[in-house]
Amino acid sequence: MNNSEIEKATASILKAIGDDPERSSVKETPKRVAKAFNEIFAHTNDQQFNDFKLFDIDDDDQTVVVRNIPFYSMCEHHLLPFFGTVDVAYVPNNGKIIGLSKIPRLVDFVAKRPNVQENMTSMLITEMNRILNPKGVAVKITARHMCMEMRGINKQGEETTTTKFQGIFKSDSIMRSEFLN
Ligand code: ZN
Repeated sequence: MNNSEIEKATASILKAIGDDPERSSVKETPKRVAKAFNEIFAHTNDQQFNDFKLFDIDDDDQTVVVRNIPFYSMCEHHLLPFFGTVDVAYVPNNGKIIGLSKIPRLVDFVAKRPNVQENMTSMLITEMNRILNPKGVAVKITARHMCMEMRGINKQGEETTTTKFQGIFKSDSIMRSEFLN
């Protein structure tokens, strides 16, 4: 990440909105923004999640569900935050499971880049399929979008939900409604 470019651009924006980048309390803002962006956009160019290990289980005829994983991302249209929770479910295949703590890491991996909620949902499905090749995978994301709320387009607190199903979750409506409920 090019920190000096971020710093220059932040000072330009401050100036362009009519503020004074030399004003004492915003003088360090470009540096702080660069530091924050390093975390917020940490995975901008990363295509494949590799920070995981798979484990073997004897009985893979079960559903693994991880609910309410918090995430924070930035809308790529306005560079304003959207945030909420992710539910992920999968049915293992060939006795392979992923460590449970790695699913929240995968959510971070897809969230920390300029994004739209729909692509985040798809990327989670794609990566779960690539990593685990499960019998089925389901993802539900519920989020609040600051680019709508702060601009008054949505009422405050309104939530946007995206869901995507593959494999057994797509073909079996009971599996699907169990996940959603
Ligand atoms: Zn937006």
